[in-house]
Amino acid sequence: MMKLLKDIKNLVLGLGITGKHLGRHAITIQYPEEKWTMPERSRGIVVLLSDKETGELNCTACMLCMRACPTGAIVIDAPRDENKKRQLKKFEVNHGICCFCGLCEEACNFCAIKMATKYEFSTTDKADLTWDINKLQEMGRDVDYVDTRRKKAAPAPKPTPKPEATPKAETDETVNPKTPPPENEAPAKPEPPTGNEGNQENKE
Ligand code: SF4
Ligand code: SF4
Repeated sequence: MMKLLKDIKNLVLGLGITGKHLGRHAITIQYPEEKWTMPERSRGIVVLLSDKETGELNCTACMLCMRACPTGAIVIDAPRDENKKRQLKKFEVNHGICCFCGLCEEACNFCAIKMATKYEFSTTDKADLTWDINKLQEMGRDVDYVDTRRKKAAPAPKPTPKPEATPKAETDETVNPKTPPPENEAPAKPEPPTGNEGNQENKE
């Protein structure tokens, strides 16, 4: 009897919980017809970013991302040309061994690699998980990002030369010591000795 009462109590409790959620909206979605919009900073697939104006890849083949990658998922081949500038020949990301840590994105100084919010890359062939440079670029074309690269600054305008300072007009108060005295003014003569200077010195 006690057991029956306990079962009825549990049944009522369960029905109460079900009834509480009946009016709420559904949490599950009908994937793949419906898809979640992932948060801005979620870490999905790795993509390469291109310049928004020219469409060229932002990557300068500096290889910092490859060195930062802890799993070796990034493989870059960029030999130097005759001007010692690196030419990007190969850029691959193996999503099969990527652990989605985001270190490649943090290492890049050129807004060239990013973890997009996309998360669909399931396949039945393991080889399909390695994406080449073209696929990485295509997948990154519609990825929004803030371009923080330092663009070449326009040359600073040359300073305009200052106009030469005009000499100050001489006034009555300011007399140039090199200016000779006017002709009608006689130069000051030293006063002749009076003969009393010796007496005065003796008195002192
Ligand atoms: S993606 Fe960034 S860090 Fe990696 S090689 Fe290109 S410029 Fe360097
Ligand atoms: S997210 Fe991490 S593991 Fe994946 S490619 Fe970037 S650095 Fe490598």
